[in-house]
Amino acid sequence: SDALGQRPTRIRVDLDALSHNLRAIRAHVGVPVMGIVKANAYGHGLVPVARQLEAQGVDQLGVAFVEEGIALRKAGIATPILVLGGIFGPQVAQFIVHGLEITVSSLDKLRQAEAAAESLGRKAVIHLKIDTGMERIGVHGYSAGPFIEAAVASQWCVLKGIYSHLACADDPASPMTLQQLERFEDACAHFARIGAPLPLRHLANSGGVLHFPQTWLDMVRPGIVLYGVLPDPASRPSIDLRPALSLVSQVVYFKVVRAGSTVSYGATWTAPHDTRIVTIPIGYGDGFPRALSSRGQALVHGRRLPIVGRICMDQFMLDLGPDGSAYNEDEVVLIGAQGSESIRAEDVARLAGTIPYEILTGLNERIPRVYS
Ligand code: PLP
Repeated sequence: SDALGQRPTRIRVDLDALSHNLRAIRAHVGVPVMGIVKANAYGHGLVPVARQLEAQGVDQLGVAFVEEGIALRKAGIATPILVLGGIFGPQVAQFIVHGLEITVSSLDKLRQAEAAAESLGRKAVIHLKIDTGMERIGVHGYSAGPFIEAAVASQWCVLKGIYSHLACADDPASPMTLQQLERFEDACAHFARIGAPLPLRHLANSGGVLHFPQTWLDMVRPGIVLYGVLPDPASRPSIDLRPALSLVSQVVYFKVVRAGSTVSYGATWTAPHDTRIVTIPIGYGDGFPRALSSRGQALVHGRRLPIVGRICMDQFMLDLGPDGSAYNEDEVVLIGAQGSESIRAEDVARLAGTIPYEILTGLNERIPRVYS
């Protein structure tokens, strides 16, 4: 792991930026915040990010899978954690043993949670999942009555929350979001009908936080904006966000390439003139997208340089131009700022034909993370 720590390629995570974003989101919405840290905290590192958010008094954490929740508990995280994914029968006891809140997405799964709680002699804390338009997990809002009644009556489940997930909130112009809100509120109205207390209602992801104040309800569930990245590059940031992640590497090789020579696999890029090429030790095997072949850019000495030829598993090449200079060990920024230039995760995503979520979560464990 010493060798790993010295790898010239690394992810730098600015923990102050995370704190800043959490503060900014809180000030913006004025309701409790569930920080979403699934998928290795969107590539930023599950445990260090959760520790930082916990130190800043985040109200709740959200993960996708029970394994992620267990990793947080083993690291000593005490903040309430909701597992957003549906439950999978054989794993139910694990939620309760590790004090993780369960997303209950059907009557069957409510029964599974109850059975596990009863056999452990310890109540399960649950949030009901209502489907208002994703058609993913959850009971349709229009038929949620019996589901809600069963949860309210449950002896072994403590009903803490009820929630749904927005499909189009990154688009401020989409009518879908308010439609989903209406369906969610209709389902929640059932509590009053049966004279039961309303649990915590939560609906807003990052798009909801940015664009739809009506969806903030009793708690919000931001993921990507916590990391200072916009859910859709076209969305207008209504909050001052700071990107927390930088991806940097170093020059490890320099050569002069003659006019007419081709660079990398498939010989897809041909030097139009004699030029200077440097090799950077990161590739698609690290999660740096191969789709950036001859499309992406990197910063060296504050200059924006083109990636030329195909990105390899572990390396790629940058064209300095005929007069450009760079030396071994010079810093190369792939995501982040250098001098007055910067490349955002959103820019990388656009060039790679994907969304920033996929870029960030794709950066894998081969890249050491450094925190400051
Ligand atoms: N809530 C749920 C149920 C999710 O699945 C996610 C992530 O997809 C989020 C909240 C956070 O989403 P975002 O990163 O867009 O804020």
